Amino acid sequence: MDRALAQSWLLAFEEAALAEKDHLTTLDSAIGDGDHGVNLHRGLSRVRRWLESGEIPDAPGEVLRESGALIRAHVGGASGVLYGGAFTAMGTALPVTGADAAQFGDALAAGLDAIVRLGAAAPGDKTMVDAFTPALTAFRTVRAGNLGAAVSAAASAAAAGAWSTIPMQARKGRASYLGHRSVGHMDPGAASTTLLFRSLARAAA
Ligand code: ADP
Ligand code: MG
Ligand code: MG
Repeated sequence: MDRALAQSWLLAFEEAALAEKDHLTTLDSAIGDGDHGVNLHRGLSRVRRWLESGEIPDAPGEVLRESGALIRAHVGGASGVLYGGAFTAMGTALPVTGADAAQFGDALAAGLDAIVRLGAAAPGDKTMVDAFTPALTAFRTVRAGNLGAAVSAAASAAAAGAWSTIPMQARKGRASYLGHRSVGHMDPGAASTTLLFRSLARAAA
């Protein structure tokens, strides 16, 4: 993970959030307040604007940290706090000169830790944690120095994790207010976490 990869990851995430904005909003309309696609894309377009301003720090960790601050400030809602906290934690965990696959795995783990620390969700609660957790496990299983293979395995695992939220009953976030009526819908945050890892795989390919 170097600065160029951090930058293309975030730009690919913004593109994916734009392409999937309506889909994320539809998912959030079913079990939340219908703003997830708009929220996420609003924040990521601020990240794109900053990345295209030409004043980007050399250290990949700085790029992720500053993006985390922009996400927290401009995404808003639960996902702004959680994704913002995750990017800040990943950025803080990265060595200044860049990271090999193992060190990047540690940074991803720090991102998931931040989400869990801030939101207190456990696997099975029907949140982004249900996509992020299997993605991290898959990344760590494959890594062996091969970042491209590891992120592609992580992206598939995140997607499977998002599908696994459909039969779950939400125990965290707005969807939990619906009780058993949250069953039968994919969690919007788990769907956007799939985009996060798919964008990483695209950027690393
Ligand atoms: P809001 O619910 O404030 O409108 P968003 O719609 O942007 O925020 O994001 C909703 C997503 O945030 C949910 O689908 C879920 O994945 C995630 N989420 C909400 N609360 C938590 C939590 N406590 N822990 C982990 N993820 C959460
Ligand atoms: Mg919402
Ligand atoms: Mg909201």
